[in-house]
Amino acid sequence: MTAGLEQPPLPLSMKGICHDYGEGAVLRDVSLDLHEGQVTCLLGPSGCGKSTLLRIAAGVERQSRGTVSISGRVVSGPGIHLPPEKRDVGLIFQDFALFPHLTIEENVAFGALGGKSERRTRAGQLLERVGLSGYGARYPHQLSGGEQQRVALARALAPKPPVLLMDEPFSGLDKRLRDGIRDETLAILREEGAAVMLVTHEPQEAMSMADQIALMRRGEIVQLDEPYAIYNTPVDKEAALFFSDLNVIHGVVKNRHTDTPFGRFQAPGLADQADVEIVIRPQHLKIDFDRHGRGPHPTPQDGTPARGRVARARFTGTQSIVEFKMEHDGTMLKAEVPGVFLPKPGMPFWISLRRDRCHVFPCARQRVLENPYHA
Ligand code: ADP
Ligand code: MG
Repeated sequence: MTAGLEQPPLPLSMKGICHDYGEGAVLRDVSLDLHEGQVTCLLGPSGCGKSTLLRIAAGVERQSRGTVSISGRVVSGPGIHLPPEKRDVGLIFQDFALFPHLTIEENVAFGALGGKSERRTRAGQLLERVGLSGYGARYPHQLSGGEQQRVALARALAPKPPVLLMDEPFSGLDKRLRDGIRDETLAILREEGAAVMLVTHEPQEAMSMADQIALMRRGEIVQLDEPYAIYNTPVDKEAALFFSDLNVIHGVVKNRHTDTPFGRFQAPGLADQADVEIVIRPQHLKIDFDRHGRGPHPTPQDGTPARGRVARARFTGTQSIVEFKMEHDGTMLKAEVPGVFLPKPGMPFWISLRRDRCHVFPCARQRVLENPYHA
């Protein structure tokens, strides 16, 4: 590498991490890098291995295989395993775990670097930053859950760690408080510039906080992408399904495409006779009024419209959820329609599928010849 062009070392780099607790693999060959000033969310259903990966990064757990490096230095791997306190990482768990016998200021100053007065100064600055300057002399039990969460954040940031690890830090909070505290936390994390690993099982939380999302399933990272890409170009049906309901239209491949009542979909890389599923999120159906039995003309963007009748419609305030029974085969399709729209059961509509919002996936357990095509 040319001198001067060398990249600074990554704040955290995990390579080939495998883990089991004695009864089957919990993590299977997971690799993940964190970047300075960025929030990486580990997102996935309960039990998929998120906390285990975070605990391995922290050093609370030792992986069965693989290496963990922090700021370019191997902290855990064959023949080496540094404990959490020697790793330069900040930790925040769901229960905040403040020291009950120390005041708020002492809690925050605890981890700060330098002499007593420097530590006090840093604690004061951080308490002010999280909006708790008047609270330094109180004890943790005298604070609300939201306030304790902010103290935990201040304490974790006190030593200016290059890496901050947070395991479901907002899940213990009242739902009404959560959004505000999340936004505030994100603003502070941006200012401090640490690389953050944040574990969550809530897609909305990951979408609103993350620079990159590592979507996990059964001990593996199945997709690593920015929120926009992970939502709009899911790697498979299960990945798509983690973020919203889906409509599924079945098809069979012939000559690298599949013909459906909604028109033709390309299915490159899939063998003839393969069963495929065309999936589309409920908010991406296109709905047109029925004009005397006629619908809109087919277009390359929206394909061919097919007719369905309203089976059920609910108005939820900002949108309506409308279920249609399709006339061609009785399939039910669900649409989320923004604004004020509450059609009566039995009303006919023309439904089309926006091609750029559809994904064609091989049915599970079928052999894939190439990557699933994204129509
Ligand atoms: P997540 O945080 O995604 O919910 P975890 O990493 O906590 O998942 O757990 C992954 C799997 O490992 C689960 O099946 C869980 O039961 C198991 N597991 C977690 N911690 C332990 C442990 N200390 N001993 C044995 N099994 C564990
Ligand atoms: Mg967990």
